[in-house]
Amino acid sequence: MAEFDLIARLTARAGARGDVALGIGDDAALLEVPAGEQLVACCDALNEGVHFLPGTDPADIGWKALAVNLSDLAAMGARPAWALLSLTLPRADADFVDAFMHGFSALADAAGTALVGGDTTSGPLSICVTALGCVPRGQALTRAGARPGDAVFVSGTLGDASAALEHLRPMGTRHPGEGRSDDDFPMSLRDRLHRPTPRIALGQALRGVANAVIDVSDGLLADLGHIARASGVGIELDAEALPASAALRALCDPAERLRCQATGGDDYELVFTVPSERWETLRATFPPEFRGALPITPSPPLAGERAGVRGAFPAVTRIGRVVAGEGVRVLDADGVPVDFDRAGWEHFMDKVP
Ligand code: ADP
Ligand code: MG
Repeated sequence: MAEFDLIARLTARAGARGDVALGIGDDAALLEVPAGEQLVACCDALNEGVHFLPGTDPADIGWKALAVNLSDLAAMGARPAWALLSLTLPRADADFVDAFMHGFSALADAAGTALVGGDTTSGPLSICVTALGCVPRGQALTRAGARPGDAVFVSGTLGDASAALEHLRPMGTRHPGEGRSDDDFPMSLRDRLHRPTPRIALGQALRGVANAVIDVSDGLLADLGHIARASGVGIELDAEALPASAALRALCDPAERLRCQATGGDDYELVFTVPSERWETLRATFPPEFRGALPITPSPPLAGERAGVRGAFPAVTRIGRVVAGEGVRVLDADGVPVDFDRAGWEHFMDKVP
């Protein structure tokens, strides 16, 4: 199996779009960006042992490699269009490539994204996807627009993926007494780790509504810290308002749950700030799930999660407010700041669990 046979297997599932003037096969792709729009570009790598555990299903790796990038496009308010795939494989493994593309193209097809090029090389398993999308000129959402008085909202639920990672990590490294086998681990949490849903439709709906947006990839506190810094503001969150799935509530005690929600990575939800004059617009966009201005109720189960890709919206919950100052604080029910060991995942600082 040579490099070009592998590329042929990838090409077979590349997907098609009318705006691809020249796709896989030449030295580079030629893509048509609609007049009046800007090209939005991002790239994120997944490395074995850092972003996924050895032995992870290649189809899950394929899905997630694209999902984390589409999540970045969503956080910019962009419409995804094209992807490039740099694949580094220890050996020319056709089964791996086929399974990988099974997961990758399931999401690519759902999101209307065509694979238009890439690179295939040998080395330790590593996947780097570049995602490209479009946004009407001047309408992209950034981290920099939050203002004191904005409310902070988050989509879906928080902490599911990091709780799954902790509970699914190899035997031997678990907490003493933790006897759970991977087979009886809740599927909904496992899916949240391996098959995150990029909030593509939500991101586009937030254009003209949100002042600042980021996707939660490293951890809520870490990522909101980026909004706080870029916007020159402080952020206060209410611990009790952070949305949790029923599965997370069943798996973790309240302290562990809060730690996962506030500092766990891999959620790929959108967290965003909205000025008060646009709360009604937001509410009108998200019936009947919008709960931000209502008393906090427990999160509904994540039925129809995949819908986030196709056009329906996930639940949106108000979790805090933007204030003058700096930094991000989580307040308990008595308004006392909660201490955490860390804000989220940091490369070169953190060890894989
Ligand atoms: P070059 O030597 O010019 O870099 P390659 O032989 O690496 O070209 O690639 C040939 C064609 O196949 C190019 O169009 C490239 O974009 C595409 N390609 C290579 N690897 C991948 C991949 N992993 N996914 C998608 N397209 C790929
Ligand atoms: Mg090449």
